[in-house]
Amino acid sequence: MPDDRPHFFDHTPDTLGELFQTWGLARFRAKQVMDWVYAKGVADPQQMTNLAAKDRDLLAEKMRFLDGAVIQHQRATDGTQKLLVDWSLDARASHTGTSLTVLGSSETQTECVMIPSTSQKSGRTRRTACISSQVGCPVGCKFCASGLGGLDGNLTTGQIVQQAWQLSWELGDGDWEVGNNKAVVPKSKTPNPKSQNISNIVFMGMGEPMANLRNVLPAVRTLAADWGMGLSARKITVSTVGVPAGIRKLADLELPVTLAISLHAPNDEIRKRIIPWAEFVSIEQLTDAGRDYFNKTGREITLEYILLGGLNDQPEHAHELVGVTRKLRSNVNLIRYNEVAGLPFLRPSDGDVHTFQNILQQAGVNTHIRASRGRDIAAACGQLRHEATNV
Ligand code: SF4
Repeated sequence: MPDDRPHFFDHTPDTLGELFQTWGLARFRAKQVMDWVYAKGVADPQQMTNLAAKDRDLLAEKMRFLDGAVIQHQRATDGTQKLLVDWSLDARASHTGTSLTVLGSSETQTECVMIPSTSQKSGRTRRTACISSQVGCPVGCKFCASGLGGLDGNLTTGQIVQQAWQLSWELGDGDWEVGNNKAVVPKSKTPNPKSQNISNIVFMGMGEPMANLRNVLPAVRTLAADWGMGLSARKITVSTVGVPAGIRKLADLELPVTLAISLHAPNDEIRKRIIPWAEFVSIEQLTDAGRDYFNKTGREITLEYILLGGLNDQPEHAHELVGVTRKLRSNVNLIRYNEVAGLPFLRPSDGDVHTFQNILQQAGVNTHIRASRGRDIAAACGQLRHEATNV
């Protein structure tokens, strides 16, 4: 039986207050509950000790706090951690260790990743949450594991926010243990100290965020809200292969989130070979939308460029890319292709990557080479898919 109780993470303080009133709970309780979940990392109503016992029981009965269940937790040698969540399962079962019906279907599963890193400049530790917006992906980029099986559905606002919350509060440095069946839970039930919380969020997991804007936009608001995850909007990156109308709607949010356009090619001809949606949107249309985004938000656009050996990583491609960057205020992130079993693309050579970067830098383009993280657990860019892996 699907659990159709309201999901906590779908709500704002206002909508939660209204809901509470219909249950006979005082409206101000909404703020207390928000505080328990987002500021203290407690999502079990029975642990919300400033609520009366009868109110805690009522909440436990009427509201779904955690949706789905984590069915796999993996840790890479570089500290990257990945969670596989099955949204069709009942999270209460995984958290109490009672029996689950594991459907084992990739059509209801997504992955999210926490990537720790240390800034070379400040020495500060960063914890970046990479979250999914859809189950599968409708775009089907030729080099990406996430789009291999097409789209199975959209994640709700609550499911999108919940991923960031779980990566923030449930990971820490402790181990996870397998409960009954496939569901796994953190060994320590103590929430992590705030210092371990995530510092950045990127919508670069499974799915095309612009194809699920109805749920992504409210999720971004919750991630950036003081009452919610409380991240600075600048630390939130929404990545898209490029839907000009969606880019303009994101600008209308009036939150200065970072927009990353997955360009991946210096011209339309190569782009069409690797990104099916490039048939409908030209690079010119994308740079126009990116310029509008900059004009409205003041945020420079990040152009993501995955280097595919021999296909788009040669000096002539770098020179052509310089021309694209001249059309909008942008910086470039170069990503070495991460191999996906069964796909015919090659990881570029180190020499080609550095030559490519030098050409951009000599032309005055701010360019970074993004480190490949979590490759040994298939958690790196383009490797996320929706099924358990035996790594
Ligand atoms: Fe979808 Fe992004 Fe993968 Fe393309 S790269 S198939 S848009 S998840």
